[in-house]
Parts: sequence; C-alpha cells; structure tokens
Amino acid sequence: MPRTADAIIIGAGVMGASLAFHLTRAGMQRVTVLDKRGLCGGMTAKSGALVRMHYTNEPEARMAFAALRYFQHWKDIVGGHCGFTQTGFIMTVTPDNAERLRHNVAMLQAIGVNTSVITPQELRELQPLAQVDDLTVAAYEPESGYADPIATTTAFMQAALRQGATLRERVEVTAIRNAGGRVVGVDTTDGLFEAPIVVVMAGPWSDRVLRTGDIDFPLTPQRAQVAFYRRPPELARGHMVFIDGALGAYFRPHGDALSLIGVGLWKPEPRPDPDAYNETNDPDFITAAQARAARRLPSLRLAEYARGHAGIYDVSPDTRAILDRAPGIDGLYMAAGFSGTGFKISPAVGACMAELITQGRATFVDITPFRFSRFQEQQPIRGAHEYVLPADFGHRI
Ligand SMILES: Cc1cc2nc3c(=O)[nH]c(=O)nc-3n(C[C@H](O)[C@H](O)[C@H](O)COP(=O)(O)OP(=O)(O)OC[C@H]3O[C@@H](n4cnc5c(N)ncnc54)[C@H](O)[C@@H]3O)c2cc1C
Repeated sequence: MPRTADAIIIGAGVMGASLAFHLTRAGMQRVTVLDKRGLCGGMTAKSGALVRMHYTNEPEARMAFAALRYFQHWKDIVGGHCGFTQTGFIMTVTPDNAERLRHNVAMLQAIGVNTSVITPQELRELQPLAQVDDLTVAAYEPESGYADPIATTTAFMQAALRQGATLRERVEVTAIRNAGGRVVGVDTTDGLFEAPIVVVMAGPWSDRVLRTGDIDFPLTPQRAQVAFYRRPPELARGHMVFIDGALGAYFRPHGDALSLIGVGLWKPEPRPDPDAYNETNDPDFITAAQARAARRLPSLRLAEYARGHAGIYDVSPDTRAILDRAPGIDGLYMAAGFSGTGFKISPAVGACMAELITQGRATFVDITPFRFSRFQEQQPIRGAHEYVLPADFGHRI
C-alpha cells in the first residue's frame, strides 16, 4: 500500500468520496483516503438525504442546483447508483413568512431552479391527503426528492477506486504534519503518510483534526434525530418530501414501506462527543416527531414506529459550510461545517474542492462566500429573506 500520495483526504464520508472521485477524474494520479472507521462510518450514513434546492441564500442554492444534475444523471456522471427518487418537494412556512417565501422562490427561479409558489389548494391537489388550513402559500419543486446516502458514497468511492484512488480504512489521523509553512503529510495510527496536499473532510471531527495543525476551526456539534415509521395503507403510494417550516418537521418517504421524519434540534442538550453520544431516539422524540408530521399528513398518525437514530451536525457559526484553504499552511484544505444540509451539495463540494486544489480556484460554483475568513470579516452567509420559524432545524434554511 502506498504511503506517499499526491493528495490525502481525511474522511471517507460522502464529502471525502466525492472529492476522491473528482480529483482522480481530473487526472490526479495518487489520491489516498484515510478513515478511522471505514467508508461511510460517520454522519453520512445517518443522513436524511433530502435533495432540495430551497434555500434563503444564493450560494447554497447554487451548490444544491449544481449538485442536482449529478443525482438526476448519476449513472452517466459517476456510475453505479445513488438511489435518487424524484418525489417533488414542498416547503411550507407560517403565514407571516409568505412574503419571504415569494422572494426566495424568485431568487431560486433567477438561478434556474424549477420551483414555484403554490396556494394551499394547489398543494392539496399535489398531495391529496394533506391538511393545509394553516397555510397561505408553499413552495414547490417538482424535480427534488431524496437519495440513498450510503449508495451515493459507495458509488463515488467505487468510481474513485476505478480511477486509481486508494482507500485505507481503520487508519486514524493523529496529527497534521507541516514543515516551513507547508503541509507534508499526516501521522496516523498506521504510521506516517506523506503528501503535499491534505484535505480535512472529517465531518464533526474536523475541528479536532485541524487543531493538530494549530488551526482553530469553529465547529459546534449538535445531536439530531430522525425516525422511520411504517406508512399506513392510505399512504401506500408514498408522498412528497416536505420541509414543514410551519410545523417544525421534515419528512420524506423511505422506499416502499417507510417514512422518515426529523425535527432538527429537538431539545437543548450538552455538547455531544461524536465518539460517544446517545445514538438512539429519545422516546418522547418518537411521538413528537410523528405528531408534527401528522398535522400535515393526518394518516401518519396511524404509522407504526420502525426504528431510528441520532447523528451529529457539524455546525459553523452561520450554520453554512466552510470550503477553503487552511490559513497559514500551504497545501492544507478543509471542507466541513455542513450542519444538517451537506448531503445534497456533496457532488458540488467535491467538484469545487477539486478545482480549488488543482486549478487554484473553483469555477463549477463560486465558493468564495464559503471562505474561512468570512467570520473574521463579519461577512457570514445570510439570506436576504430568511424565515422566522417556530422551530429550530439546527441550521438556517
Ligand atoms: C441526522 C442527520 C440528518 C441529516 N439530513 C440531511 C438531509 O436531509 N439532507 C442533507 O443534505 N444533509 C443532511 N444531513 C447532513 C449530511 O448528512 C452531512 O452534511 C454529510 O453527510 C457530511 O458528510 P462528511 O463526509 O462531511 O462527514 P462524515 O460522513 O461524518 O464523514 C467524516 C469521516 O471522517 C472520519 N474521521 C473523523 N476523524 C478522523 C481521523 N482523525 N482520521 C481519519 N478519519 C477520520 C469519520 O470516521 C467519518 O467517516 C444530515 C445529517 C444528520 C446527522
């Protein structure tokens, strides 16, 4: 197994796999991915994996829009399958947010997203069993849906391996090594690996990894839960994907029989350790999540709990990702802080980071708004018309 590479990627989640695919596709010969657990051993496997474009800020919307093409044409672009299921997507907001929603839909339309503002009656036509009395408007995206996060990551990695990448599982990076202001490799539980380029894509562990290179990466870990319920016969044919801002829940079908329901931040909790936290559902979460979703789709009241889990969001100060070079160490890059919204943009993150590394700048999508220095510059990513919602999703929409 080679111990010298052109680039080392720390983390074999969906981001690391996407970057390995894009770097090798760009012709980089020796790309080594290291993971202390294994492929998809982190938060990607826990993802709700909603694929939607509705954001209140343009930079993230552009990333999501660019990534949609991958999900739609996965076989041609990456190979294998990603489990993308086009269901249509609905964003609801409380009536006091209706004007904001109109502005946001106009912003999304201007960048090319297929979306429209719909009335409650139109929502009922699209989703016949929906209860819509509390709504004045909603946003609709016919092309959105959800994907399979494990299949997506596996397909990215298999393509990267075919293109020459190496995956080393159960190898933990213990320190980033640099000499004279340049990265030279990483120390691991399996010895030294050398490379002139190192990319930290370690999910909620990214701040710990970067601290070994004396970089203070501002991440707050937050525990978030999702639960799966057996759909009752009335919903046997499935339903659309919802981010129900009005009710404080998101939900989507999960294959033929289940629905996934999440609520983002459930209750204030002490700072979790991503290596040791309660990975199961809180009993009161199971009933509360179901009750919220059932206010929109009343048939879900009859759904039976099947299983569920908790994961950790890696939350930056503005809840948006940091995609950049690391300050002060040439050759060191970082992509983390995705909170609960990274999966859907992962194809674009890999494409943009590969361009940043190989060409010095990303053109697939402009990632300068995601720069590390934005917090110091008091330039956080903010939407012009952010919603003021009754529930906290753990990240801004
Ligand atoms: C409950 C939940 C629901 C979500 N729902 C959605 C959604 O609906 N839509 C959406 O777009 N996004 C969603 N997300 C967010 C999305 O899943 C994440 O943004 C994305 O999966 C992050 O991928 P990653 O590769 O950055 O991190 P991870 O998948 O966490 O991968 C990081 C990897 O780094 C490895 N690692 C860590 N430290 C080291 C080390 N020292 N040495 C070597 N390896 C190391 C870990 O083992 C891990 O495999 C959700 C997240 C959660 C938790």
